Amino acid sequence: MKAGIRDFILAGGFVMTVLAAVCGCTADDAPRLSRAEKDIIDADGIMRVLTVVDREDSLVLRSECTDFPLKTLRSERFGRLAGRMIATVTDSTQDGVGIAGPQVGLKRRVVAVQRFDKAGEPFEVYPNIRVEYLSDEKQTGPEGCLSIPEIYGEVERSQTVVISYVDINTLDTVRDTVSGFTAVIFQHETDHLDGILFTDRM
Ligand SMILES: [Zn+2]
Repeated sequence: MKAGIRDFILAGGFVMTVLAAVCGCTADDAPRLSRAEKDIIDADGIMRVLTVVDREDSLVLRSECTDFPLKTLRSERFGRLAGRMIATVTDSTQDGVGIAGPQVGLKRRVVAVQRFDKAGEPFEVYPNIRVEYLSDEKQTGPEGCLSIPEIYGEVERSQTVVISYVDINTLDTVRDTVSGFTAVIFQHETDHLDGILFTDRM
């Protein structure tokens, strides 16, 4: 092979590797679900919500989460998880506006968020989610957390965010711009996926 072509290929490979490292979203290299994760998802009823009161739970709540493999997002099991997360956050014992993977014992990038900015204010589930943009314009408001009983406080958040996540029907990465209170919920919930709790920001 001519040196010039080979160098180009090598350079291209290097660029691809760097891009993969930067966005962390290329190949489907996310770890497959463990037996323990499958058992959590496959169980019946409302999911147990982890709290900082419990030491073991705290370790999960402080964990960095990983994506779901794309194959899992197409599975019935992911649909089941989405339904159970919504059932859990909307249960009268919780009555929340959002919930994140670690709060139900899964160190995975998934959140359920109530879209107050949409007609009917539906709960929607976002896998492999990331915040791609945070506006400089801020808003301050009261927050609480299902995982931190009886603590409330004022937190400063961006007015507008751009999120990216994987559409489970197309498996494309899609983006959405969200403002106002719903943007606050997205920031609170995606913080959970990086092991950050709202009390860290008070
Ligand atoms: Zn929370």
